[in-house]
Amino acid sequence: MNRVALSSWTGLPHTRIYPALEVALYAENPFAQPEATLLARGNGRSYGDVCLPSDTAVLTSRLQRIHSFDTERGIITAEAGISLAALLRITIPRGWTLPVLPGTGAVTVGGAIANDIHGKSHHWAGTFGRWVRQLELLRSDGRIRCSPSDNAELLAATIGGLGLTGIITWAELQLIPCSSAWMETRAMHFSTLEEFYDHTRTLEATAEYVVAWCDLSRPGRISGILSAASFCNDGQCSVPPTANERRFPPLPVSVFSRPTVRIANMLYRWLSSRGPSREHYTTVFFPLDRLPWNRLFGPRGFYQLQAVLPKECARDGVTTICERLWHAKLPVPLCVLKQFSAIESPGLLSFPMAGTSIALDVPNTNGARDTLRAIIADVVAAGGRIYPAKDVLMTPAEFQRMYPQREVLERWRDQRCCSQFWERVTCGIQ
Ligand SMILES: Cc1cc2nc3c(=O)[nH]c(=O)nc-3n(C[C@H](O)[C@H](O)[C@H](O)COP(=O)(O)OP(=O)(O)OC[C@H]3O[C@@H](n4cnc5c(N)ncnc54)[C@H](O)[C@@H]3O)c2cc1C
Repeated sequence: MNRVALSSWTGLPHTRIYPALEVALYAENPFAQPEATLLARGNGRSYGDVCLPSDTAVLTSRLQRIHSFDTERGIITAEAGISLAALLRITIPRGWTLPVLPGTGAVTVGGAIANDIHGKSHHWAGTFGRWVRQLELLRSDGRIRCSPSDNAELLAATIGGLGLTGIITWAELQLIPCSSAWMETRAMHFSTLEEFYDHTRTLEATAEYVVAWCDLSRPGRISGILSAASFCNDGQCSVPPTANERRFPPLPVSVFSRPTVRIANMLYRWLSSRGPSREHYTTVFFPLDRLPWNRLFGPRGFYQLQAVLPKECARDGVTTICERLWHAKLPVPLCVLKQFSAIESPGLLSFPMAGTSIALDVPNTNGARDTLRAIIADVVAAGGRIYPAKDVLMTPAEFQRMYPQREVLERWRDQRCCSQFWERVTCGIQ
């Protein structure tokens, strides 16, 4: 058995060496190895311990093939280890795109399903899982095909199932038409939360993709820039060539302090102050893929926390979170706001709910942990949720309150699959 060094994208928990197996479609079933508990690993783009095995990692990087692509109906069947960026390089030149895309193209199909990811299109597309037509799961007792008509409950448990129901080997996905690799973009500044909500309503009425960057560097002031984008209609479908991923070591210290964040935010505001423009989809969807963002936080790593506050109390909830960050004087180099629609997610443990989502990157400095814990407690009390894909801090009791369906997932969990996240959040309540 191989051994690999694994961490999450944030460097928290810190890197450790794990036993690892590789899965390939027609090779030996990894569950044939006796005893060890397994966890499928995609590209490790999760910000927390959902992507860390409690014992052995099953690497999916050999699951890269496309089984079929119906270019008439926009249906593609791809193996689970292929990245979404690689899929787009195949589909966009043929006039189709994935309806839901995260902020990095490095996420795999398996990882996108297991965390039921959302994107800038939640107002019309909902989550990734809504576009899964069927998939195959490799479980300790064999292979099983799941679709809304066959093994539907297992499908629902697998969408947002955090890799615990087995290893997804391939999935059939519904695409949507697009006739360009280029997008028309526009930006609107907001200087209060009221304006954020007003402008979001305006932009979502016409734009396919909407998201807000938020500047929290001036205590008492929630301001930022809403960005909207829609595919052009010009038939120019050129895609970038495959790029080898470059790996960078962490910088010796974090570049983020309150003064540097303030300067960076001023710069970003200035750069974003131009009018409507035309940008390639890679720039619109995957801006962080152009820099080694996670390495800028230094060897101590960082936290990302993403919360959704229910519609009724979203405004107050977001304000309280910001006040806690200001009070603790924490630098927040990245804050993203997004409205989630009422479109139901198909997964048992899907994160989105109708309301406002706020995602924060916070360097791992003294005090950050306590403040983030307090924020999680506020979110739980408000009836909101924390995104498991980005969590290292929630307690078993908090998880239970936010995700009461966890007991149903536990029933569908393959007893040979486990993650550090699942051990942490279910410890003592099983
Ligand atoms: C820069 C950046 C931006 C992001 N933006 C967004 C965003 O906009 N929206 C959003 O929702 N998320 C976002 N994320 C989080 C990311 O989309 C999820 O964490 C995603 O699940 C990571 O996929 P991965 O392939 O790297 O899987 P990993 O992180 O390796 O694993 C994630 C989970 O998927 C499971 N898994 C992976 N492959 C399989 C498989 N074949 N079978 C069964 N289970 C499997 C793992 O067991 C684990 O539980 C972002 C992450 C980064 C780094």
